[in-house]
Amino acid sequence: MSTISVPGIDMRAENAPAGVEGPGWFAAKLDDVVGLARKNSLWPLPFATSCCGIEFMATMGSHYDLARFGAERLSFSPRQADLLMVMGTISKKMGPILRQIYEQMAEPKWVLCMGACASTGGIFDTYSVLQGIDRIIPVDVYIPGCPPRPEQVLEGILKIQALVQSEERRRRDSPEYKAMLSKYGIE
Ligand code: SF4
Repeated sequence: MSTISVPGIDMRAENAPAGVEGPGWFAAKLDDVVGLARKNSLWPLPFATSCCGIEFMATMGSHYDLARFGAERLSFSPRQADLLMVMGTISKKMGPILRQIYEQMAEPKWVLCMGACASTGGIFDTYSVLQGIDRIIPVDVYIPGCPPRPEQVLEGILKIQALVQSEERRRRDSPEYKAMLSKYGIE
């Protein structure tokens, strides 16, 4: 269904979800189609405070080209983003701001935590640095490293995409999801 025929080139745009097809029609589960669309149209909000942010800039550049995954449209407005990417050292003073940004993002939303500092505080085991953003907001995927290379950032995006594609549309209304948010004091 999704193979584009160009002489000498066999291009596959995207794997269609499992479905039933016949001449001129194709039927699939709504969850699968929505998952496919969400997966390939992520709008990241880069919350970058230090050196890991530079690696993300490299990931956006032409060599690594995040646009190949449909995620090149960055948003600096939380209300128009569905992937919060946290990269860099997060001080305790900045914690409430990060949390406010997370809360302002509409559901469904996902969080990608990039690098040792954002994940655990990294080398900054000090009184002023948050020892991991998962103390204040839930995280879906962690990218290890100090700094992670752009290839690792791409792998993190692929893991987020896999999550997004397989997520049921009603997961966000489930008691388990609400209980997880309430552990963070988020309604
Ligand atoms: S993890 Fe390393 S590269 Fe990333 S912000 Fe911290 S010190 Fe910088």
